Amino acid sequence: MQQTYVQPEFRVKIDYDKCHKCGRCVQQCGWGVYDFNERPLPHDEKCRACHRCVTYCPAHCITIEKNTLAFRDNDNWSADARKAVWRQADTGGVLLTSMGNPRPYERIFDKLVLDACQVTNPSIDPLREPMELRTFLGRKPDSVAVEMDGKGGYRLAEGAGMKNNVELAVPLIFGPMSYGSVSLNVHRSLALAAERLGILMNTGEGGLHEDLYPYQDNVIVQVASGRFGVTPELLQRGAAIEIKIGQGAKPGIGGHLPGEKVDREVSATRMIPQGSDAISPAPHHDIYSIEDLRQLIFALKEASGYKTVGVKIAAVHNVAAIASGIVRAGADYIYLDGFRGGTGAAPAVVRDHIGIPVEIAIAAVDQRLRDEGIRNQASIIAAGSIRSSADMAKAIALGADVVAIGTAALLSLGCHLCQSCHTGNCSWGITTQKPELTRRIDPEWGAARLTNLVNAWSHELQEILGALGVNAVESLRGSRERLRAIGLGEQTCRILGVKPAGM
Ligand code: SF4
Ligand code: SF4
Ligand code: SF4
Repeated sequence: MQQTYVQPEFRVKIDYDKCHKCGRCVQQCGWGVYDFNERPLPHDEKCRACHRCVTYCPAHCITIEKNTLAFRDNDNWSADARKAVWRQADTGGVLLTSMGNPRPYERIFDKLVLDACQVTNPSIDPLREPMELRTFLGRKPDSVAVEMDGKGGYRLAEGAGMKNNVELAVPLIFGPMSYGSVSLNVHRSLALAAERLGILMNTGEGGLHEDLYPYQDNVIVQVASGRFGVTPELLQRGAAIEIKIGQGAKPGIGGHLPGEKVDREVSATRMIPQGSDAISPAPHHDIYSIEDLRQLIFALKEASGYKTVGVKIAAVHNVAAIASGIVRAGADYIYLDGFRGGTGAAPAVVRDHIGIPVEIAIAAVDQRLRDEGIRNQASIIAAGSIRSSADMAKAIALGADVVAIGTAALLSLGCHLCQSCHTGNCSWGITTQKPELTRRIDPEWGAARLTNLVNAWSHELQEILGALGVNAVESLRGSRERLRAIGLGEQTCRILGVKPAGM
């Protein structure tokens, strides 16, 4: 075998004095790290630090350590940069990775703080006062017509009000993750949870498995460049339809589901041959202008009985102008995916070096649409590493209507962010199609955990609203005055429309 210069990233250490020799670690590891010969024998070079074996070892005798090889100091050529060169010299190929951009670019959410009421404008106690988190996804009317209600009051005029909006119990949805990139049991968990929470999940670009038909009122169906699984029936089923133009983790490039993950069920749902690579092209070959996009939006509306149609784009340099064009093309919502958004597989160079933070994109798009007087014509969904209820509140204060979570949802199902989804061997049964692994996710259990997560964040959002002295999430949307920056540069503050703390 040809010698590689890349040494194992992790060391699997077993305290054999405590080990029961039960072999559970062998069975739990999706990457085949362990041999077993009277006791478990790890091959360090295969370990992804997913911690499945650590979690399930009954003797708690496994530790995974970073392989702290000493490299000669060089601030320019980091150890990771050197390893990447060696790997590419080994293979001659593009380095693949998965999950979101882990690089230490500025995390803007962490440099924003929220306001709170003190003496005047008293705060509100969310345990005693009603707090409205309901949000409506879609185009809002330019004006509202009212008529007398016959009792001395007024009501919305017949036919006035919001048409074809999708009601969400909380301003949060599950982001697109295709069946194929994640297992069917993950989709089942997401669908069950979405139904119970009164929110939406999103098929991603892989179509809707028939097991999820009962949950179709809580599903956004996606139309991506590969058109996998897209039929007139699919469009009829979705609560809303989403045209995927771009993805935060890999702006400007298409998708690639390796053939190993295309089993019989995935192939039937995607309508492609079993075992074939599912490669979606970088562009939609019928969209080369805003006019083309408009045609597709209205074709999808007509095919679906005028359902809400949104457009998902990656956050890139000129995102505000792009969003303006999309709204003018007739989209009912824009999905902005920041550069920290997750992925099942992407070239590392694209994930780590292309795109902009979602915080900047939200503020720039919200402001542009307001300046043009068209903010009411589309909702903004923000995604790309929403890690907590605090991130959710800050995204809404910057101008988002709704946030979408993908990585946080998978974390709640056990994901340990080992960034190895593209291998198809996920020990946690999430990003794999291997039956012995996928059965590790029980949909009822998964739905309960997802429901807990969203309920917890909703309670925390109510606490934040109470502290701000508002009783509806609507009042927080675009309230940048309720944010302050700590340690952000003047230009960034200007783009965000946020003052520095103390002002
Ligand atoms: S799971 Fe733990 S106790 Fe069982 S064989 Fe592996 S290391 Fe030993
Ligand atoms: S890959 Fe995961 S399960 Fe396998 S040895 Fe490493 S930490 Fe354990
Ligand atoms: S989904 Fe699985 S493979 Fe992907 S990062 Fe999480 S634990 Fe690793």
